[in-house]
Amino acid sequence: MSSIDIYFTRTELDRCANMRDQKQRLKQLKKFKPCHYVPVFLGNHLYLKNEDHFYVSNQPMGGLKSEIFLGILNEELWFGCSLTEEEARKLERQKDGSFQSLRQYALALDDDQGHVALYSRGMDLWHRHRLYCSICGTKNKVESSGHKMICENGHEHFPHIEPAVIVLVSKGNKCLLGRKHSWPPNVYSTLAGFVEAGESIEDAVHREVYEESNIRIKNLKYFGSQPWPFPSSLMVAFKAEARSDDIRLDDEMEDVRWFDRDDLINWVKEGSIILSPRFSVASSLISDFIGSVG
Ligand SMILES: [Zn+2]
Repeated sequence: MSSIDIYFTRTELDRCANMRDQKQRLKQLKKFKPCHYVPVFLGNHLYLKNEDHFYVSNQPMGGLKSEIFLGILNEELWFGCSLTEEEARKLERQKDGSFQSLRQYALALDDDQGHVALYSRGMDLWHRHRLYCSICGTKNKVESSGHKMICENGHEHFPHIEPAVIVLVSKGNKCLLGRKHSWPPNVYSTLAGFVEAGESIEDAVHREVYEESNIRIKNLKYFGSQPWPFPSSLMVAFKAEARSDDIRLDDEMEDVRWFDRDDLINWVKEGSIILSPRFSVASSLISDFIGSVG
């Protein structure tokens, strides 16, 4: 366990998975309990002018077919509503707002709101990307209150998550950070990559660090996890120690470097180095390193 908080790791939201197929019970509950409907378009939420919380309605929107039961929080029901482009534009005009990525608003959300936002985003994107069966190509139909797709030939589909590993590698008071070619200037972060088929999470960490930096690691320790539906990842975070310090780059990375802890603190203060956003697990890993050395 880590002493540094990771954003969006815990929530009081009860997903009530056993209720997803209980249509009548849900219908009854809707009559007696407060309901919240979160409109989502292309994974984005509606933000009104001068507000940094996403818009939530107490009325259903987008039709029953687009409704995804998220769960119950403080005795109140939460639903995600996947909107069509026409519905989204109409709502933007009505409310004088616009659909935006939650990245720029994430720090304003508490854990429960953050969870609702990430959960509704991930489910909305899954719905949009699974219009047709990946086995036979026929049209999918939504079931289980939005949590299952089934095609004309009975093939079932469930939301899939892509695990990715992310790791802070240290050697004494230095840590290993890198940047990709596509990133904005001066942005550095911890090394990360997707777990491949047939691979354990631990092996993926060893492989990714070696591929991106030529560094072999030891003393791998689990740090925590964070849902990251961009579009469907789960970040699994680790700390590790380097067995060597000879960096060699592969094509994927523009730069990988050892950063002395004090230099890193100074350069971040000056603005000559920019780290990942504060709500990311990469930021939690780096804060943990800065706090634990020296
Ligand atoms: Zn099928």
